[in-house]
Amino acid sequence: MKTVGIVGAGVIGACVAFSLAQRGMRVHCVERAQPGGLTTDVSFARLSAFQQPTYARFELSHTGMIEHLRFAQQFDSAPWWHPTGSLAWGDDEDDGLPFADVVHRLSSWGYRTVWRDASRGTHAWEPAIAFPHERTPAVLFPDEGWVDGPELVSEILAAADDTGRLTLWNGTVDGIEVHAGEVRALRLEAGDRIEVDAVVNAAGPQAPTVAAMLGTAPIEGVATRSSLVIDLLTGDDPVRHVLRGAQVHARSAGPGRVRVRSDQIDARLPAGIRSEPGDELVKDLLERVYRTIPTLESATVDQVRIGTAVFPGDGFPSVGALSAVSGYYEAFANSGITLAPFIGRTLTTHIATGEIHPLWARCSPDRLRTAS
Ligand SMILES: Cc1cc2nc3c(=O)[nH]c(=O)nc-3n(C[C@H](O)[C@H](O)[C@H](O)COP(=O)(O)OP(=O)(O)OC[C@H]3O[C@@H](n4cnc5c(N)ncnc54)[C@H](O)[C@@H]3O)c2cc1C
Repeated sequence: MKTVGIVGAGVIGACVAFSLAQRGMRVHCVERAQPGGLTTDVSFARLSAFQQPTYARFELSHTGMIEHLRFAQQFDSAPWWHPTGSLAWGDDEDDGLPFADVVHRLSSWGYRTVWRDASRGTHAWEPAIAFPHERTPAVLFPDEGWVDGPELVSEILAAADDTGRLTLWNGTVDGIEVHAGEVRALRLEAGDRIEVDAVVNAAGPQAPTVAAMLGTAPIEGVATRSSLVIDLLTGDDPVRHVLRGAQVHARSAGPGRVRVRSDQIDARLPAGIRSEPGDELVKDLLERVYRTIPTLESATVDQVRIGTAVFPGDGFPSVGALSAVSGYYEAFANSGITLAPFIGRTLTTHIATGEIHPLWARCSPDRLRTAS
């Protein structure tokens, strides 16, 4: 049976570790910080295919959403999984494709959608929202929801540990040993050497840095997207669904906690920003939140963070084997929360049998190494 090393215990690395251990493989997962504590923690973590611009990308995300149901059903309880449905509405200032056209396109692709207007029904669904007009058209997406990323990571690493086949290392991988074109070992900054038959690079934003340890052509065409994310402490739980409002997105983040962000604010973030933004953007986001959900005006701001997602610029994940190095696999993605359980299961099959799931046909890591 193979021994597999995984670099990174974010949502993707943890899902891969769980699936590999379940399949009987020996797993060494190396995480330099808190498992699930980087991108996975600050993520908006919505299960959704709404934003996908083409059928191919929609199909991938939709498959990821369906996989979450199947994934959750494997456990006696799945406290990370919140299939709340989501409620979306647009306004006259929408850029790009009008809201109604986006919804019709999703519907034609087989996405479940339920139209309502604010005066008939949506007040009952989400009493706390101040819709722009009584007749604002709103749509319920019953199959969407959100995931508590850190909780998912912690629960499934514990389940993988229960198999007796997972070793979780707290350390930094600073080398991948390759001999005669084959992966042989991971090297840790602290001096440890872990012999492996295969390596999965699940290092999130650090995936290009980890890939560079192979000494082959570097990853090219990587995109980044930053978002201002605020967590509010609320006395009660005023938000029932994931909300995709015209000005603000909001969802519960557990009892007494609401997470908010806004596309309009993110569009104004300076390029490459990694730390806290100026007060002006924070104030603007909060004002949009208060206009949309007035009851949140009495909430306390708990955390103000910038989250940055790093992913292949064509919008597809990088999932699968790199042909230049036998035993090296990559798993980094946009929409990684939605895709993680699907990546975990199908990449495990790929490692165990060589079989490639058809949905990964355009996601090969090779495409990101044009220089090779
Ligand atoms: C603001 C924001 C909103 C988002 N919204 C959504 C959404 O609504 N829906 C959705 O599906 N996705 C969303 N995403 C994307 C999603 O959050 C990410 O795709 C996903 O969390 C990536 O998970 P990961 O495991 O690849 O990365 P990470 O969670 O970043 O994990 C990688 C881990 O690797 C570790 N690591 C790195 N280098 C090393 C090393 N050398 N040695 C050891 N460990 C290492 C890191 O410490 C880290 O813990 C959003 C992202 C952001 C930032």
